[in-house]
Amino acid sequence: MQECLFCKIVSGDIPSSKVYEDDSFLAFHDIQPAAPTHVVIIPKKHIASMNEVGDEDYVLIGQLHKVAQLVARKLGIAETGYRLINNCGPDAGQTVFHLHFHLLGGAKLGALTGISSSHA
Ligand code: AMP
Ligand code: ZN
Repeated sequence: MQECLFCKIVSGDIPSSKVYEDDSFLAFHDIQPAAPTHVVIIPKKHIASMNEVGDEDYVLIGQLHKVAQLVARKLGIAETGYRLINNCGPDAGQTVFHLHFHLLGGAKLGALTGISSSHA
């Protein structure tokens, strides 16, 4: 999967600002933050999107939530609150096809966005 941007971040071919790493996961600051704290959390295993999560991956996805909890605590937003988001596919605006979750916090977040004006 050497053409995958996040696999390249896992291998170190592309640098990232890491906030957490273990054998199975990596978390790093988003290059275009949408909130004062914006971390991308990924499994090191290449899974293209939520649609490709297999039965063998659900323990991994559960563990990823533990990583989100740890990162939120580490960055000091556990008590003030945060949002964990996955974008899957074109309508959600997924741009990197390696499963990832956005951890957003550090300020009062806006309401969840629904249908964009281009769909109205
Ligand atoms: P999504 O739109 O849900 O696929 O999210 C992909 C995210 O990856 C976006 O928020 C990008 O800003 C972020 N991103 C892309 N390239 C990098 C990079 N080299 N380092 C950190 N974040 C990145
Ligand atoms: Zn990948």
